[in-house]
Amino acid sequence: RLVVLGSVNLDIVAHAPHLPRPGETVSGAALSRYPGGKGANQALAAKRLGADVSLCARTGQDADADAALALLKADGVDLSQCLALPNAQTGVALIIVDEKGENQITVASGANHSFQADPLHLPPHDALLCQLEVPIEVIRQASTKASGLFCLNAAPVKPVPPDILSRTDLLIVNESEAEALEENLRDYHGILAITLGARGAILQRDGAILARAAPPSVEAIDTVGAGDAFCAALVIAFLEGKGYQEAVEFACRVGAFATTRKGAQPAMPYRADLDSLFNL
Ligand code: ADP
Repeated sequence: RLVVLGSVNLDIVAHAPHLPRPGETVSGAALSRYPGGKGANQALAAKRLGADVSLCARTGQDADADAALALLKADGVDLSQCLALPNAQTGVALIIVDEKGENQITVASGANHSFQADPLHLPPHDALLCQLEVPIEVIRQASTKASGLFCLNAAPVKPVPPDILSRTDLLIVNESEAEALEENLRDYHGILAITLGARGAILQRDGAILARAAPPSVEAIDTVGAGDAFCAALVIAFLEGKGYQEAVEFACRVGAFATTRKGAQPAMPYRADLDSLFNL
């Protein structure tokens, strides 16, 4: 069983001809609303890959919460630790995606930011997966209460306090996050996964490469959620006992699949999707 602790957002997405420069107005966009938030995205991705998943998160008591949790509910993610706070708004992410699938994102954290570290109840689990869209004190508490694998996706990027790093078994970052955290990671001795967009991903420990893989070549139309899909898949692969090489290949396939559909959560594949598309 996997517990994902993190954010729930409603993603409001404008599909635009190009990304605006500062001060520029871009016309001709089409608007969509999707459930999102890195925590929710990763929980749904893991559930669709067949895991028993519980999401520990905070929303407001508003209509955005219902919209944000709709797919998690539909797919049967356990939401017993997903609490609605009375005086907070559900988090919202404003996302612009251009014709090449590149994106720009601004997040109004709302209830995610009001997540209190105490009391924190984590259902029994074999792995705990967190991101950095909730207060660091909540992550710290979670890391002390984790049983089994403690996995951290250091996104959106900020330095990870040494005590949390020392309890981390698997740290997942993209290329720019890896660069930003280079100093911070000198004292990290767990498994480091670095995603490289269309070039795939590598697994390292203490600077030594454990495995690397490239994703299948796909027509990427929207990369929102690719990193979240990758994180969930990598943790699931380890829980299933896959070796480093097989695990990173699996995660790359799942990440690649997520770029072939619009939105974050609707793009998350079921196992059967992977079978049909990539003949796993
Ligand atoms: P993030 O979205 O967090 O920046 P990446 O862009 O590195 O993360 O993407 C995560 C994973 O998704 C990659 O390791 C890769 O497997 C897959 N992926 C991302 N972009 C593409 C692409 N254009 N084609 C195929 N796979 C992709």
